[in-house]
Amino acid sequence: MKTLIANWKMNVGIRESVALARGTLLTLRGRKLIPELVICPSFIALSEVRKIVARSSVSLGAQNVFWEPSGAYTGETSTRMLQEVGVSYVILGHSERRQELGETDEMIHKKVLHVLSEQMTPIVCIGESKQQHEAGQTQEVIRTQLISALSQVYLRGSERVLIAYEPLWAIGSGVVASVGEVIEVHQFIRSLLQELFAGVSSQQIPLLYGGSVDGENAYGFLREELIDGLLVGGASVKINQFKDIVEACGEVLEAQGI
Ligand code: PEP
Repeated sequence: MKTLIANWKMNVGIRESVALARGTLLTLRGRKLIPELVICPSFIALSEVRKIVARSSVSLGAQNVFWEPSGAYTGETSTRMLQEVGVSYVILGHSERRQELGETDEMIHKKVLHVLSEQMTPIVCIGESKQQHEAGQTQEVIRTQLISALSQVYLRGSERVLIAYEPLWAIGSGVVASVGEVIEVHQFIRSLLQELFAGVSSQQIPLLYGGSVDGENAYGFLREELIDGLLVGGASVKINQFKDIVEACGEVLEAQGI
């Protein structure tokens, strides 16, 4: 299985989101093998997009959530509210929220626990800055973020957590990490996960890559066994680019017979 997460960020309003959702569904038409596909519109577009993807294999994700079930939290959105509009996945700890909105590892941890307690699937983003990358601190940063996000997490039954390795220097920059770099970090994450979650299968914790993925470079990542999928930002709102990414995914799935 391969997973594609389309993070539309704050780039498209309601009307454009509806059109984009229709276009995204069309990219799947006629394919024998399709990826697990999750689209993450802005909060205000969720209920309209839900009408488009209902009765399709496409799932709906949110770009954030609050860690309390309800209460006096002006401006926040709860898991129950998201469930009402059909959301089953939530992106947590995106670097744009960590950097621009001051989200801390502790806040992300509370969100992960809450999302799982509500039978939803967190997509946890982790990754190092350019400075940390250049200083050789990638593993240290990844370890800290991962251990913090996943402490006290116990995956029961078919519960899943998706981890997206997104180096900050590659997000929205056009500077894509090399396949080799991603594999090295994914190997490191996988070994940490084996320590943290003995007996949990890798399908329950898929490892994705995100950072300037486009129609041209997607295949190189997707064909790797250690890369379970991609989190796509900018290219997910450009339907021709996203179509190429879905096509690359289809080719890999057919080649692997899965
Ligand atoms: C992202 O939004 O997490 C992301 C990876 O963005 P982009 O694909 O534009 O780099």
